[in-house]
Amino acid sequence: RSLPYFCRGQVVRGFGRGSKDLGIPTANFPESVVDNLPADISTGIYYGWARVDNGDIHKMVMSIGWNPYYKNTKKSMETHVIHKFKEDFYGQMLSVAMVGYIRPERGFESLDELKAAIHSDIEEAKIKLDLPEHLKLKEHHFFKTSQ
Ligand code: ADP
Ligand code: MG
Repeated sequence: RSLPYFCRGQVVRGFGRGSKDLGIPTANFPESVVDNLPADISTGIYYGWARVDNGDIHKMVMSIGWNPYYKNTKKSMETHVIHKFKEDFYGQMLSVAMVGYIRPERGFESLDELKAAIHSDIEEAKIKLDLPEHLKLKEHHFFKTSQ
């Protein structure tokens, strides 16, 4: 397996799927970062650590999925940082460590069902990331470099 997987890139605008309306904003990585993903990283929901520029390291959940904008021929990577930010951070450097896998992508009957699934992903991420082997990745040299 290729986890943990570390990557960083400047946050770009998504395609306005209204994640903020759900109360769950997801920061998009540029294509270049997505194209570098190892081939054996499957689509689905991951958890890990995230940092915006030189800020604090927060827990995150990430969805890797097929991007409808490219007729589902390209993947997208969308990170929800589990932290309340005062402002958007478009154009800033997002560094993430993908640490574990939660579940495959799936369809939902309703928005409420989707929201409930994401909230349970977030709860699972919070618990798993408190395990010592995951906590120690916050100290990884990947997060030491200044952006
Ligand atoms: P977009 O379609 O542009 O991705 P979203 O509604 O998904 O729009 O909002 C994502 C943007 O919200 C991010 O690019 C970032 O600038 C901002 N943002 C604010 N708080 C968060 C957070 N906790 N996690 C992720 N993005 C956040
Ligand atoms: Mg988004």
